[in-house]
Amino acid sequence: MQIAEETVVSVEYVLKNEAGEVLDQAKPDKPLQYLHGAGNLIPGVEEALAGKASGDSLQVVVPPEKGYGARDERLVLQVPREQLPEGELEVGTQFQVQHDGGVGVVTLTDIAGDQVTLDGNHPLAGETLHFDLSVVEVRSATTEELEHGHAHGPEGHQH
Ligand code: ZN
Repeated sequence: MQIAEETVVSVEYVLKNEAGEVLDQAKPDKPLQYLHGAGNLIPGVEEALAGKASGDSLQVVVPPEKGYGARDERLVLQVPREQLPEGELEVGTQFQVQHDGGVGVVTLTDIAGDQVTLDGNHPLAGETLHFDLSVVEVRSATTEELEHGHAHGPEGHQH
């Protein structure tokens, strides 16, 4: 079966940045499972996988505009320390924030005195991403999966 709309795909992946550092990968024997065409993966990866079948391997270079978008420096804000939750603060900590468009995630990127810097960009925004992909399985999505807009695991509902 070929990867198309309304199929559920199991894929092994290794994600590297431009420097070749591994940023993320599927756990051994635990391929990523997703519902194709539902916007569950970044567009560059879904586009590259369309039409592939189980057993296919491919390498994909995904520019930011097909990945997590360009960095937007307007999303970098300095705020007083006291606006953040009590307790130890560490660079790299992520917070959920409420804003006009809904809920977003910001990353604490710097602490200077009583000012902290928060970055609302996705950590991979602006990065060109290199994927090694290997298709393990392609099957038809179930009605329930199509209704939910995502894949369910072998044991059925997992969320
Ligand atoms: Zn579901």
